[in-house]
Amino acid sequence: MERYDIAIIGTGPAGLSAALTAKARNKKLILLGSGKLSEKVQKAHKIANYLGLPNVSGEEMQRVFLKQIQDAGITITEKRVAAVYAMGNGFTLQAGENLIEAETVILAAGTAPVRTLPGEEEFLGRGVSYCATCDAALYRGKKTVIIGYTPAEESEAAFMTEFAEKVIYIPMYEGKPDVPETVEIRRVKPEKITGRMKAETLLTDGGEIAADGFFILRESVAPAQLVPGLEMDGRHVKVNRDLSTNLPGLFAAGDMTGTPYQYMKAAGEGNVAALSAVSFLDWKKRQ
Ligand SMILES: Cc1cc2nc3c(=O)[nH]c(=O)nc-3n(C[C@H](O)[C@H](O)[C@H](O)COP(=O)(O)OP(=O)(O)OC[C@H]3O[C@@H](n4cnc5c(N)ncnc54)[C@H](O)[C@@H]3O)c2cc1C
Repeated sequence: MERYDIAIIGTGPAGLSAALTAKARNKKLILLGSGKLSEKVQKAHKIANYLGLPNVSGEEMQRVFLKQIQDAGITITEKRVAAVYAMGNGFTLQAGENLIEAETVILAAGTAPVRTLPGEEEFLGRGVSYCATCDAALYRGKKTVIIGYTPAEESEAAFMTEFAEKVIYIPMYEGKPDVPETVEIRRVKPEKITGRMKAETLLTDGGEIAADGFFILRESVAPAQLVPGLEMDGRHVKVNRDLSTNLPGLFAAGDMTGTPYQYMKAAGEGNVAALSAVSFLDWKKRQ
């Protein structure tokens, strides 16, 4: 398995800035996120407070960022990271069906209000999962429910049909989901997950759905669920001045570390986090 010096999670200003710095410092890096970079950049109407780019639209900023990344020879690996595990001597990242190994990790995945369902965290790993691609094989011949918060999750529902005997898809957005005919679509509002030793039933405003597995697929996962053992400060990742976290070799940058939620702060922190990761790699080499 290929092993990277630095794995960067997120393609907003924090992740892109971290990638540019890591590249300038000649590190072997992988940048994971979206080819469209960040919705929070793309959707901004007018940006007036970014040094050197006065009064640009979000789309213009996205174009300029993308060009700079491409000119630096950095490619974006379009994968969502489902979990990051500290392995003692580095990290293993689960991204779709792939496992990625890295000496250091920079979390730059932004923030999104993640309101979990009652029972969701209690049964995580016991019938509740955040990654269909990772766990579908566990549900061969069984019944699964997928709650998809964006159309991007429709492909996960399609993948699940290769394993599960029955797949129920609950779209949390408008529009007709593009899923295989064998997938049953239910327009209901999930309210609670219940069970005894493991998750057994999803309670909704349209009645109960019993199943063997419940997949909850959102645009973002709360940091502490993404990285088991990560210390938080409220809803933000707890960081030191050099943006290191409580897990040696793991750094965080941008909105994830707290306010102000601004492009310049995110980009600046991406730079600091990458330099701190480089120092950590140098220190590790000397040991
Ligand atoms: C409409 C709007 C307008 C704004 N206007 C301004 C403004 O004018 N000026 C200003 O300074 N700030 C503005 N902001 C705030 C600014 O957008 C954020 O502070 C900034 O984008 C934070 O950058 P970031 O890199 O930390 O995170 P984000 O930009 O949120 O990027 C995070 C990236 O990580 C990816 N990601 C998330 N989870 C995963 C995962 N598990 N695996 C892989 N990738 C993942 C996301 O898809 C995204 O690409 C605005 C925000 C919004 C929503």
